[in-house]
Amino acid sequence: MQSQITKLPKAVFFDQDGVLFDSMPFHADAWVKAMGKYNLPYTALDVYRNEGRTGSGVIRELYQRVYGKDISQEIIDDIYAYKSNQFIELTGGKLPNLILDIRNVLSYLKSQGVDCWVVTGSGQRNLINNLNNTFEGIFTGIISAFDVTHGKPHPEPYLKAWERCGFPKEECAVVENAPLGIQAAKAAGLFCFAVNTGILPDSDLIEAGADMVLPSMAALLEYLQSVTSNQ
Ligand code: CA
Repeated sequence: MQSQITKLPKAVFFDQDGVLFDSMPFHADAWVKAMGKYNLPYTALDVYRNEGRTGSGVIRELYQRVYGKDISQEIIDDIYAYKSNQFIELTGGKLPNLILDIRNVLSYLKSQGVDCWVVTGSGQRNLINNLNNTFEGIFTGIISAFDVTHGKPHPEPYLKAWERCGFPKEECAVVENAPLGIQAAKAAGLFCFAVNTGILPDSDLIEAGADMVLPSMAALLEYLQSVTSNQ
């Protein structure tokens, strides 16, 4: 049985990849190719399951499992650089498309006076500019890799957003797409919507602790509107 909310939150924390931007297919292709360079078997499903972990951690663990020995920093750096280049090549260096209907969700929340934040593990330097250009006037604040010591699934990123937003936890909610992000939100003690924008089965998101799993941003919007009208 999924949990419900009885009124609109005062602040909503949005993850970036797979929630704002439809970037995961590119990340998946890029990772599979980069791992393949060293004959490391890695599928798109693996990429989605590991979304949010640091690249070096994933590479190290897989290499150990396949070759039974520690990987050198040189190879880690090479795989990571290759992956980053592949990503740029696949996206043509442009921002990936937005997740379908995310603009409608954000506009609706703003129209209802809800503060919207971005909480991402991404450490791309141009991130904040990109986000504020793409979603002009929407976000109250952005928590990125530069603001935290521990990444998801550690609760720190969501706790930091919660501290800064100034509302009680029960008046905040998270929108995530990935198991580790959901774990981070739940470890932070926050209500978590999971919107399944990728290729994982819903059961992965439920097992990670999602309070509610929705198939699309349109479904999330419909739900939020129903909550508003019942308030
Ligand atoms: Ca994500």
